[in-house]
Amino acid sequence: MDEDVTGAQLLAESLRAQKVQFMFGVVGVPIIEVAMAAQAAGIRYVGMRNEQAACYAASAIGYLTGRPGACLVVSGPGLIHALGGMANANENCWPVVVVGGSSDRNQETAGAFQEFPQVESCRLYSKFSARPSSLEAIPSVIEKAVRTSIYGRPGACYVDITGDMVNSKVNRGEIRAVPCCPPPPVSMAATAAVSEAASVLKASKRPLIIIGKGAAYARAEAVLKEFVEESGLPFLPTPMGKGVLPDDHPNCVAAARSRALLQADVVLLLGARLNWILHFGRPPRFDPNVKIIQVDLCPEEMGNNVRPAAALLGDISAVVSQLSQNLKNEGWKYCPDSEWWSTLKAKISANTKISQSLALQSTLPMNYYTVFRHVSELLPHDCIIVSEGANTMDIGRTMLNNYLPRHRLDAGTFGTMGVGLGFAIAAAVMEKTKVNAQRVICVEGDSAFGFSGMEVETMCRYNLPIIIIVVNNNGIYSGVDPETWKEMAKLGDLTTVAPPVTLLPEARYDEVMAAFGGRGFLVRTVEELRSAVELSLREERPCLLNVLIDPASDRKQQEFPWLTRSNL
Ligand code: ADP
Ligand code: MG
Repeated sequence: MDEDVTGAQLLAESLRAQKVQFMFGVVGVPIIEVAMAAQAAGIRYVGMRNEQAACYAASAIGYLTGRPGACLVVSGPGLIHALGGMANANENCWPVVVVGGSSDRNQETAGAFQEFPQVESCRLYSKFSARPSSLEAIPSVIEKAVRTSIYGRPGACYVDITGDMVNSKVNRGEIRAVPCCPPPPVSMAATAAVSEAASVLKASKRPLIIIGKGAAYARAEAVLKEFVEESGLPFLPTPMGKGVLPDDHPNCVAAARSRALLQADVVLLLGARLNWILHFGRPPRFDPNVKIIQVDLCPEEMGNNVRPAAALLGDISAVVSQLSQNLKNEGWKYCPDSEWWSTLKAKISANTKISQSLALQSTLPMNYYTVFRHVSELLPHDCIIVSEGANTMDIGRTMLNNYLPRHRLDAGTFGTMGVGLGFAIAAAVMEKTKVNAQRVICVEGDSAFGFSGMEVETMCRYNLPIIIIVVNNNGIYSGVDPETWKEMAKLGDLTTVAPPVTLLPEARYDEVMAAFGGRGFLVRTVEELRSAVELSLREERPCLLNVLIDPASDRKQQEFPWLTRSNL
């Protein structure tokens, strides 16, 4: 007990004591020692190329495991880069703990190297932001940050450590150990609210369950499977709610999404907010008289945009069990021969036919639907799919099935581009610790890939068997072909004539991967695509498929655009 410990060691050991398993960061002054101490304490440290991607990665660990990942950043600009990741985590309700080094205390306000008001800056992007007042306070501040990140509505927390604290020492005997905080306490809904919800559901003619990423985070899959199968209700997953129940479940009505939302008279909303992703729960996308049964652990969420017919405050698994018990006691089941089920089934088969006919087109360059059809046929059912981009993500969501919970990570509530590679790295390092590691497939638009493209070096350095599929249409939303590009260049300076959405036609993203020792594939045809997917599934190193598609390829005709002003 006579031994001295440094601030860096205390910080690392405190994170470990709170069961933080992974740390992602970019080291530099003053936090190199913190990363080293983290490794010594048994935390896996992943060195990334930009703090933003590091923070995306750490937050994905929080979503995937229910325990936050740590993100370690240097002072000033390092911390500022991480703010994007903190905002993304907070908007998604994902736990993450960011640890930022800061200037030495005796230089503060004197214009120190990378000096910045870090604790204040993080307030807008987090639930909790603090600097321990002394070395002795580190364990309790770390415990509070970890606990706050996972209790109540999960989110981001920030802990600041000054450069002088990193290396100063204290006797271990003077440190009060703080035990690991237990998982969040679980609460149930009020009995009266459960009865109210049950009677609304029983009176419904066209009910619909919406399964959000809150249900995925809550690990509600077993309870939900039983509830859906016993009640016979149709369900619709949100983008990251996909996989809580498998996409090919007979009660899944994702292929009739617009119709289901528009005509449902009662919606049981499980861990999803009525924000832009669900078109605010309002006309023209919802029936103006729809009754919402809202299940959430955050009381302030109740009533956002639509006054719920019943508000069930509590943990999704606990509340669904309550509701299920109530309905079972009355022997209630939703009729499988209802008109609603026939409407939904007819719409599902009509929509599926349209996608299938687009997917069967054999023209070159390929369109999105053709690409996703072949990719989905070849992917293992248990793979983790990371996806971002505009059309790449929207069309990919409808065609790439998820069969397991928390196996889809995408641009999320904040619509953030650039998250994909960080998320994929997090998922892959997590899988690497398991006996039967599942594959991570990162499906990116070419624009989305560019935001954090240098993280392919990270993937190669740690030899993570990630497959990146860049669906390359030469631009943001759409691009032009190489010939048109050349013609445009003749017309004048490209900065004056190139449409702002264009990116370099047929850019060789595959060579970026090959440059670091991964395997790159240039893909133009269906045969090349199938063979590249098969070969990369057999590889143990990272692979990148650069799939050149028709730069004018688009989504099939939509009844409503996703983002429409008329929603409000
Ligand atoms: P989606 O993007 O799938 O629509 P959101 O992120 O909008 O989902 O909503 C998730 C919701 O789930 C949040 O309102 C959050 O408070 C809630 N939530 C998270 N964990 C739980 C839980 N264990 N029980 C109940 N609600 C939860
Ligand atoms: Mg693109």
